[in-house]
Amino acid sequence: MNRKLFDYIAASPSPYHAVAHSAETLRAAGFLPLSEGEDWDLTPGQGYYVTRNGSSLIAFRARRDFSGFLMTASHCDSPTFKIKENAELTGSGCRRLAVEKYGGMLMSTWMDRPLGIAGRVLLRKGSGIESRLLDLGGACAVIPNVAIHMNRKANDGYSWNPAVDLLPLWGSGEEKGFFRPTLAMALACREEDILATDLALYNPQEGVEWNGLLSAPRLDDLQCAFSGLTAFLAAGESGAIPVYCLFDNEEVGSQTKQGAASTFLRDTLERVCETLGQGEKYRQKVARSFLLSCDNAHAVHPNHPELSDPNHGVKLNGGVVIKYNAAQHYTSDGVSAALLQLLCEEAGVPFQRYANRADMAGGSTLGNIANTQVSLNTVDIGLPQLAMHSAWETAGAEDTSSMVRALTVFYGKSLELTENGLALV
Ligand code: ZN
Repeated sequence: MNRKLFDYIAASPSPYHAVAHSAETLRAAGFLPLSEGEDWDLTPGQGYYVTRNGSSLIAFRARRDFSGFLMTASHCDSPTFKIKENAELTGSGCRRLAVEKYGGMLMSTWMDRPLGIAGRVLLRKGSGIESRLLDLGGACAVIPNVAIHMNRKANDGYSWNPAVDLLPLWGSGEEKGFFRPTLAMALACREEDILATDLALYNPQEGVEWNGLLSAPRLDDLQCAFSGLTAFLAAGESGAIPVYCLFDNEEVGSQTKQGAASTFLRDTLERVCETLGQGEKYRQKVARSFLLSCDNAHAVHPNHPELSDPNHGVKLNGGVVIKYNAAQHYTSDGVSAALLQLLCEEAGVPFQRYANRADMAGGSTLGNIANTQVSLNTVDIGLPQLAMHSAWETAGAEDTSSMVRALTVFYGKSLELTENGLALV
């Protein structure tokens, strides 16, 4: 399972690649692409997927009669450095690239390691544009540290300035005109046909499993994205429509046209209902739906156990994490957490409960943001990991398959209203 996870991560150096790779996997499993700009004609029993901006994706399997939607959502973006449009910098005999931060990374982890550049390039095509994926590959940049002899404070809590300390070195030479020609050569196009770019750095290192643990780049949140997709494709028939969501821009607040705060999910669910002749029952369907917001969680750090809540520290290889937060940055409440526990019990999967220390603000994620557009029973879950937002993250080797098993059981269910509440049957 983890070998496949590492392949998924390697195929996803950018959100555009993650969506393209997920779409390819869905197509290979018989799913058909839909376009938001065209009519939909859905055949019950057939699987479909739709993308927005090439960086978010929603897949589902159509059914004539369905109780509601059973959904998972994860994100495909990770903290990185975005290459600026006027990228070239020269001086001191070196060529560098102008970048800006995307998300909140652990900056020191990006230094002194081989870095790739990937994303999309927009080319002139007649009177319009063509979007092309680009991956410049394994080692085309490095962010060099200053030697300890020249910065004696490097080990004393040094504060990195992204406009100065974190500019990646591209190579040797003083002349400008080095970056776009490289892009043109990689894309086999004319340099003047490059209109715009969405490119960022990434860590190309392959994931590894070691001593019961695994380490890889972008585990947050590709470990959950991979687990959700694997379960979505493996699950059997149910009375509900299974939905798999992969959102871009979580690391910068989700408030983009394709992020979890956008209308993408609501638009898709409404259209599915309308096209299947259930348009007037949209609200009923949503009331019988359940969303698992899947995003990784902070495991207890063995060097700093005091940073975790004493009763809610979660452990590597301890299974699926249910995340709680009184301020509802995590959506889990009594009802949704109770249903999730029943689900884990049925799947034979261990689960553990996470809450921040009461004196620490935690992160945010997809669930409560998606609920501003589609409001429904939601639980926040994830897998325990260390060094979240490092360029090289570490998790438990057994936990990926726990998540896949739990989500596979989930996707084979439907949510029923009962006399006393709700049941996943
Ligand atoms: Zn995340």
